[in-house]
Amino acid sequence: MTRVAIAGSTGSIGKQTLEVIAASESGKYQLVALSANSSADEIIKQAKTFKPNLVVVNDESARKIVARELAATNPKIEVIADVAAMAGIADVVVNGVVGFAGLSVTIATLAAGKRLALANKESLIAAGPVVAPLRKISGAEIIPVDSEHCAIHQCLRSSQNNLRDVAKLLLTASGGPFRGQTKKSLEEVTIKDALKHPTWSMGPKITVDSSTLMNKGLEVIEAHELFGLDYDSIDVVVHPQSIVHSMVEFRDGATIAQLSLPDMRLPIAYALDYPNRSTVGFGAIDWTKLSRLDFEQPDRDTFRCLNLAYAAGRIGGTAPAWLSAANEVAVEAFLAGVVQWSQIASIIESTMQHHDGLIATEVEDILEADAVARQWARKEVSR
Ligand code: MG
Repeated sequence: MTRVAIAGSTGSIGKQTLEVIAASESGKYQLVALSANSSADEIIKQAKTFKPNLVVVNDESARKIVARELAATNPKIEVIADVAAMAGIADVVVNGVVGFAGLSVTIATLAAGKRLALANKESLIAAGPVVAPLRKISGAEIIPVDSEHCAIHQCLRSSQNNLRDVAKLLLTASGGPFRGQTKKSLEEVTIKDALKHPTWSMGPKITVDSSTLMNKGLEVIEAHELFGLDYDSIDVVVHPQSIVHSMVEFRDGATIAQLSLPDMRLPIAYALDYPNRSTVGFGAIDWTKLSRLDFEQPDRDTFRCLNLAYAAGRIGGTAPAWLSAANEVAVEAFLAGVVQWSQIASIIESTMQHHDGLIATEVEDILEADAVARQWARKEVSR
C-alpha cells in the first residue's frame, strides 16, 4: 500500500488526485494527509470521505472551523498548521499547491527522502539552486506531474544512456486561448477570455499563464531544472490539439513522443505508480476520430513572456525566482481587474530590470529574492 499525502487538495490537481485514488483498486493507496490554504468546507468534505490521519490548514480561522467539525466525527484526526509534517507520514507527497507557496512542501518532502509528485512548478523554478542538492538525499526523487515534463520523463526511458543520447527536449504548448491573435487584437481582452482554455481544464493562475505563454516559459525553466539540459537544447513547439504532451529528440534522429488525451489524471497516476504504469485509465485516443496533429512555431513577439522566461533561465541564480514572483503579482493584478492582460509582460520585464543578482544558497535567500521581486512588481503594477 502506498501512503499518499496531497498538498493543495482543494485545488484542481488535488481534486484530480483524489479522483485517481477513488478510481484505483481498494487497498492500493492510503490517503494519509490533506492540506489546503483556507477552503474549509471543501477540505472537511474531503476528509470525511477519504479519512486521512492528518489535515493541514494554513489559514488560522479556517483551521479552527475544520478542527471543530472533524473532531466531532473523528477524534483521532490531527488538524495542524505545519505542512512539512505531511512528508513524515507519507511515501509520496503530491504537491498541487498554487504558486510560490508550494516551496515548503517541495523542500520538506525531498528533505524527508520521499517521492515528490510535483505539480507545483514554481517551487522548482524559484528555488532551483536550493532544491537541487536535496534531490541527492537517499529516497528523495521528483516525478513531474506537469503533463509536459511527465511526457519527457516517459520518453527519456527509451534510452538507458539517458541524457547523453538526447539532442533536444521539445515542449509542446497548446498556444492557449489567444493563439493566432495579434498584439493589437489582444489589447482589450477580458479576464473571462483569458480563462477560456481550449483544451485543458486548470486553475485560474495557470490558465492565465497559458494565455500569455508564461506557463510554457516557466516550463522551459522547469525542464532545465528537472533534466539538467541547457537552454539551447530545450525548444517549444505549438501543438493546438494537446495530444502530444512533449517529445525528446535523440542524437540518432529518433523523436519519441508521448500521446494521450489532455487529462491531468494520467500524469498524477504515473507519478504515484512509477516505475510501473497505472492500471487505471481515464480515456484513450480514439484513432478513428483523430485525423490530424498540427505543429507550429510560437509567436514570440506577441507572447513576449516566453522570451522573458528564456532570458531569466539563462541568467540563472535568482532570476527565475524574480520572474516567477513578478508573474504571480502581475497575474493576480490582472485577475483582480487592476491591469490589462497586455500589461502582464511589461510588468515582468520592468521588474526584471531591477534584478540584483543575489546568489541563493539557502531557502532564506530564495524567500528574500521572492519578497524583493514582489515589491518591485507591485510598484510596476501601481504605475
Ligand atoms: Mg504543463
